Amino acid sequence: MKTIFVCVGTRPNLIKITQLEKAFLNYKDLKFKLLHTGQHYDAFMNDVFFDELKIKKPDVFLNAGGATQVELIADIMQKSEQVFSSQQVDMVVVPGDVNSSFACAFAASRLQIPVAHIESGLRSFDRAMPEEVNRILIDNLSELFFITEESGHQNLLQEAKSVKHMCFTGNTMIDTLIAFQENIDASLVLERLKLQPHGFALLTFHRPRNVDNRENLAKIMETISQLSGFLTVVFPAHPRTLKKLKEFGFLKQLSDNEHVKLTSPLGYLDFMKLVKQAKMVITDSGGIQEETTFLQVPCLTVRPNTERPVTITEGTNTLLDLQADLIVAAAQDIAQGKYKQGKIPKLWDGKASARLVKSISKYFDKK
Ligand code: UDP
Repeated sequence: MKTIFVCVGTRPNLIKITQLEKAFLNYKDLKFKLLHTGQHYDAFMNDVFFDELKIKKPDVFLNAGGATQVELIADIMQKSEQVFSSQQVDMVVVPGDVNSSFACAFAASRLQIPVAHIESGLRSFDRAMPEEVNRILIDNLSELFFITEESGHQNLLQEAKSVKHMCFTGNTMIDTLIAFQENIDASLVLERLKLQPHGFALLTFHRPRNVDNRENLAKIMETISQLSGFLTVVFPAHPRTLKKLKEFGFLKQLSDNEHVKLTSPLGYLDFMKLVKQAKMVITDSGGIQEETTFLQVPCLTVRPNTERPVTITEGTNTLLDLQADLIVAAAQDIAQGKYKQGKIPKLWDGKASARLVKSISKYFDKK
C-alpha cells in the first residue's frame, strides 16, 4: 500500500483536487491523504469550498501562518517536514503555484519523497510574480509532471525535464466544473443579486501588481466607473482587494454606484453560475482564464502576460494592460457581439483526475 499526500492550502488549490478522492478509489493499493496547510482559513476562502465541493476533511491540518510570505513558507516547511518524517508518505502531490505548494514540495524533496506537480510546466516568464518563481521551483523539485496544456509540455522539454515522467492529464479544475454542472445551474445567485442573464460584467482583481498600489487601484476604479455606464458590474472582492479599497478610501465610491454590486468572495457554485451567465469576465486571476475558456465566455485578463497561453490561442481570453480606455473599448466590442469564438482545449474533458491517478499508479508499478 502506498500513501499519497495531496497538499492544499488555498482556494484555487481546493478547486483543483475535488475529483481526486473518487479517482483514488479505483486503486486499492493507493491511499489518498489530504494535508491542509491553513494558508487560507476563513469561511469565504476555505470552508465554503469544503462544504459545496464535498472535499473530505483534511487528515492533517498544519495551522501554519506568518506575517510575511517567507515566514508563512518557513512555517509550512517546518510543520510539513514533521508530518512527512513521522508518517508513511510515499508521494507528495501539490497543485498549482501557491506558497503552500512550494513549501510542501520542498519539505518532501529534502526527505527524498517523490513530488508530483499538478499544472506543471506553466510559465509566464515574469519573475516579478511570486507564483512564477513557485512554479519553477516546484517543477525543479518534482519527479512527476501533470500537464494541462501543450505549452506546459514544451516548457518542461525546454528545461530538460524527463519525458518519461510527464503526463498530459488535461485540467483537473475543469473536472470540478463538469462534475458540479447541475449544482452550479441550481444556484439562485442571479435572483439574489437581481441580475439579468448576460446583462452584467463579472470582475475579480487580486494580484498585488493591480491592487496593492493606489495608482493602479485608481485605474481599476476608473474602469469600473466607465463600465457601469453601460453594464451592471458584479465585483466579488478578494479579502486583499477589499483591504486595499478601504485603505485607499475607494469603498464609498463603489457602494454609492447603483450599477455596481460589490460582494464578499462567493462560494464556487454561485461564482461559476455568474461566470456562465456573464456577458464578459474581467479579471487578473489564473484559474478564471481557464474556466471562461471552457465555458466559452469572453474574458479580458488585465495582466501583461499569462502562464496559460492556450486560453488566448484557442480560448476566449485576451490580455490587456491596466488602462481604463483599453478595457472599456474591448468591453464595448463584446457587448456589441464583436468577439472571437473560442474552442475547448485538448483533454479538458472532466477526466484529468482519473488520468493523473492512473499515472501515479503506473509510477509505483515501475518501481
Ligand atoms: N472563485 C470563487 N469565488 C470567487 C472568486 C473566485 O469560487 O469569489 C474561484 C474561481 O472559480 C477559480 C478560483 O476561485 O476557480 C480562482 O481563484 P483565484 O482567482 O483566487 O486564484 P488564482 O487562480 O488567480 O490563483
